[in-house]
Amino acid sequence: MFDEASSKLSAIYLAILMAISIFFSVNIYQASVAEFNRDFSRQQALLNDSNLLPQNTDARNAFLARRAQQYNEAKQRLLVRLAIVNGVIFVGAGFLSYYFARRTLEPIEKSHQALERFTADASHELRTPITAMQTEIEVALADPKLTIKEARQQLESNLEELATLTGLSNGLLQLARLDNEGPNIKRIELRKHVNKAIKHVGVMAKQRGTTISARIPAKQTVTADTTGLIEVLTILLDNAVKYSPDKSTVTVTSRAKGSSVLIEVSDNGPGIEKADLEHIFERFYRADKSRTHETTQSHGLGLSIAKTIIERQNGHITASSKVGSGSTFRIALPK
Ligand code: ADP
Repeated sequence: MFDEASSKLSAIYLAILMAISIFFSVNIYQASVAEFNRDFSRQQALLNDSNLLPQNTDARNAFLARRAQQYNEAKQRLLVRLAIVNGVIFVGAGFLSYYFARRTLEPIEKSHQALERFTADASHELRTPITAMQTEIEVALADPKLTIKEARQQLESNLEELATLTGLSNGLLQLARLDNEGPNIKRIELRKHVNKAIKHVGVMAKQRGTTISARIPAKQTVTADTTGLIEVLTILLDNAVKYSPDKSTVTVTSRAKGSSVLIEVSDNGPGIEKADLEHIFERFYRADKSRTHETTQSHGLGLSIAKTIIERQNGHITASSKVGSGSTFRIALPK
């Protein structure tokens, strides 16, 4: 598809360049011929006046015929030269047009490929719980001796699959929204927003007995989008609580560094393998699922959403981790 588009676009570029080149060539030819004609008539008048023409009629006609022939040859030479120049321009412009057409289409092709990959991943992720649910329901319905207890278990399992689907569709909607809406960046007080994010994960933290401790200097400010920052902090805190064992501690700290503010969310959880660490910010990437506390709540979208949000606010997000002793996620935002 993009090869065809490149060819079409280069043909358009080439047609434009050739139209310009031919337009100038025609003009140069016409102007030169007009100049030749003027010169020719002037010389003719001069010759007539100065009696330089041979008196003998034959010799005079031969002389005039040679002059006319030279005049025509000059016009022809000009025509050939312009044709050669246009030929060279055609070849050169052909290569250049193709090169620029490829360069013009390259970013579009890349984002198209990314979109295709994303659509394929998203439909795969959506299909998995739907297929699981469908099979379970079909098996249950085909069993004539299905007890109420089994039916209840079945419904509970379906509910889990539905929770996965809801989480996934929420994540996908969030990503789509991020693609369409720009951030509203302003100077905001950090501590207030960290506390809001802590509140969002409060219920889960309480269930797990996790302590979240925040050490944010009073009056510290960052330049960020309020909703985006709370969303990112919620994702990081949610992960920290979700992947850590019960009754552990999660800390949020911040400090100024140069023109940035570094915000760190650390946990004492299982940590992330080095091989996974390189990929955790990719969409739908999940590290070893066996370590995951609640698989239904893991869609592999959280960190990619966090990265998109932070980078749109001119910030950076990185992760470091040591297997067995915990992970730290670090956000750098302008002060
Ligand atoms: P999700 O949590 O929905 O799976 P994320 O994009 O938030 O998706 O995280 C991607 C993966 O990174 C997770 O599946 C998990 O394996 C790993 N991960 C993220 N945060 C932590 C953490 N604090 N401790 C251990 N592993 C983590």
